[in-house]
Amino acid sequence: MSIHPQKPKSKVDKIDYFAKNRPIQDQSEVDLVKITNSLNLAQEIAKLGSWDYDVENNTIYCSDPLYSILGIEKDGDIQPLYENLLAMILPEDRESFDYLFQQTKKLGTEMDIEYKIQKFDGSIITAHVRAVGKKGPNGQVTRIIGILHDISDRILTENRLKESEEKIRNITTNIDIGIWSMDYQTKKVTFASPAIEKISGYPAEDFLSGKVKWKALIHPEDKGKFSNQQKDLLRGKMYNHNYRIIDRNGQVKWIENKTIPILNAEGQLIRLDGIVQDISIRKKNEERINYFAYHDYLTELPNRRMFDEQLEQMIVTKKGTNEKFALFYLDMDRFKFVNDTLGHDIGDLLLGKVAKRLSAIAGEHTVFRVGGDEFTIIQDRILEKDPVKLGEELICKMEEPFQIEGYEIHMTTSIGISIFPEDGNSIKRLIMNADVALYRAKELGKNNVQLFTKSLIAESYKLFTLESDLRKAIQRKEFILHYQPRVDALTGEIVGAEALSRWNHTRLGLVPPCEFIPLAEETGFIHELSEWVIQEVCKQQKEWREEGCTLVPISINLSAKTLMKADLVQKVKACLDEYSVPAQLLEIEITEDSLIKNEGLGLSTIKHLRKLGLAIAIDDFGIGYSSLSYLKKFTVDYIKIDRSFIREIHLNDGDSTIVQSIILLAKGFHLKIVAEGVETVEQWELLKSLNCHYIQGFLFSKPLPAKQLTNLLQLNKINIQP
Ligand code: C2E
Ligand code: MG
Ligand code: MG
Repeated sequence: MSIHPQKPKSKVDKIDYFAKNRPIQDQSEVDLVKITNSLNLAQEIAKLGSWDYDVENNTIYCSDPLYSILGIEKDGDIQPLYENLLAMILPEDRESFDYLFQQTKKLGTEMDIEYKIQKFDGSIITAHVRAVGKKGPNGQVTRIIGILHDISDRILTENRLKESEEKIRNITTNIDIGIWSMDYQTKKVTFASPAIEKISGYPAEDFLSGKVKWKALIHPEDKGKFSNQQKDLLRGKMYNHNYRIIDRNGQVKWIENKTIPILNAEGQLIRLDGIVQDISIRKKNEERINYFAYHDYLTELPNRRMFDEQLEQMIVTKKGTNEKFALFYLDMDRFKFVNDTLGHDIGDLLLGKVAKRLSAIAGEHTVFRVGGDEFTIIQDRILEKDPVKLGEELICKMEEPFQIEGYEIHMTTSIGISIFPEDGNSIKRLIMNADVALYRAKELGKNNVQLFTKSLIAESYKLFTLESDLRKAIQRKEFILHYQPRVDALTGEIVGAEALSRWNHTRLGLVPPCEFIPLAEETGFIHELSEWVIQEVCKQQKEWREEGCTLVPISINLSAKTLMKADLVQKVKACLDEYSVPAQLLEIEITEDSLIKNEGLGLSTIKHLRKLGLAIAIDDFGIGYSSLSYLKKFTVDYIKIDRSFIREIHLNDGDSTIVQSIILLAKGFHLKIVAEGVETVEQWELLKSLNCHYIQGFLFSKPLPAKQLTNLLQLNKINIQP
């Protein structure tokens, strides 16, 4: 142990050091030093200083810790005089301090004040002073004893707390999210932010006072939706929930509510904190997105997805019952034409109007848009209204013209219907069969309604078989040609004949050209067929020549597609050469319709064929749209008036006028005229009077096998007795 204790480092040590190293006079002094030391120590720890003001001498005794709080040295340059210490107080606090101090000095009252002091090193502290005046025997205040507490740390913490409280208040006041807190035991709302009012319409105070209960605002339909809430909260799990409330103005709002359970150390639920948010707009957007997932944007009708789901649903509910329902498949007949000619904007507007009209008749939620111009209808309770009648009603209504942006648009509709369960008990079958019926409706000239029947399936089966058999038909020698004579209208003399294809199918028997020609065109088989016809006719001409028959030109029908084949002229020439047939004995018939559809494309082939010496005829003349301009464009030799004009020529003035005009027109172009489909003497007589050149029709002869035509050719004339 050393004799001289170590030099003090801290102030506390310092007091001990001096106390220990001072000469001690007597025990009471020792005790006093001890008390002073421990008092100083206590003050230093509490950041407290004490002072004693002697009024008479205007001196202040300061405790050691007070010197250190104020940053002035004991026995230093600055005397602990009232004036000096007052000067250290910040100007804004100085006057009030002085006033209180003077009051205490005068009256002996207590003073209690917080104020700021600037120390000599420039730092600022906050001090809390409590003091009391002590009076002498004459009633005058002689001393003021006080303490000064450095409360800077506390004030700093308080300020920080205030600041963060302010920040939180700012946030909770300005955001649209409502924040609340509730005591779980008493069920009292202890906090409700201002946004609660924005959301509910009721002031936050109403919830705090218990005047309004949040639960009471919940929409009656959503009240039962809080299934797991209690369980989750008691386990300390946050509960998330969306529901509707009815606000103070009666408005329904969607709310998102997050409830956060606060548990105590024992795991018991003591408080609930929560966040509520008005999500009505988000909900509306979600509803809109959901709406368009199931609705068509253009017409706002339910779309294909909705249709599939509802049809499925319908099948499920009807299965096992005796109830039936009908599925309609509708197609706008000339919609593509409207779109192509008037543009998509008009097309879109038209679809919108079509949708409205269909819904008005069939009822809302039963009409679906499943494709461009395709609609479907599910008709429940078909006993109340016959589906075919409803179909006819729809067709009738759709025939009324649509007025769109100054256009008067005429639309027609084709409808196919299938019935559950007899026409199918699955989505696939019902749709397929309604589609088969629709196809049939289109085939029958559009603008009509067709109910599905099993025979339609047979027909489509037939079509399928035909298509696959068509390719093998030539090798199997199933095709034959029939010839229909064309006679001079005045003399009955045979001036030519038309070669018409016949298909003798092994199982189906004779298939008419109206069935297999479109199929052949669609599949491209038409080229092979045309080549076969050319070859066959040339071969036949050669046979007739060898038999010594009178030879007449034979016309063959070529489709526009064949005319576009680059090597057609070459092939015709090769065939004529092979059988040594002069080009004048072969003629080509092209329908007016196919000329229009392929404007200009077959033109050069026609020119080359004519150059070769073949005569060209326009077939089925009059039923196309722009006959006149085509007559001018294509140099042809004769025209064949379509038989639809001849059928009622002797009964219908309109038809005879048309035929008369066609004849006059053709003559103006120096063309010969053939009237097709002449079946009666009356028709023939009338055509004769109109100066028609040639006649072709059942009146003179049906299309005949080559052998029978040989007989007629030998006669060279067909006699009809008027
Ligand atoms: P098309 O060229 O107008 O032929 C005339 C059609 O009218 C023939 O029908 C004929 O049988 C029918 N017909 C003639 N006179 C009368 C009559 O007095 N009354 C009635 N009701 N009908 C009459 P078919 O043979 O059924 O041929 C139909 C169409 O098929 C032809 O019309 C032609 O466009 C096309 N076609 C026929 N064979 C061929 C072919 O080999 N190639 C091409 N591309 N088309 C062909
Ligand atoms: Mg023809
Ligand atoms: Mg014809």
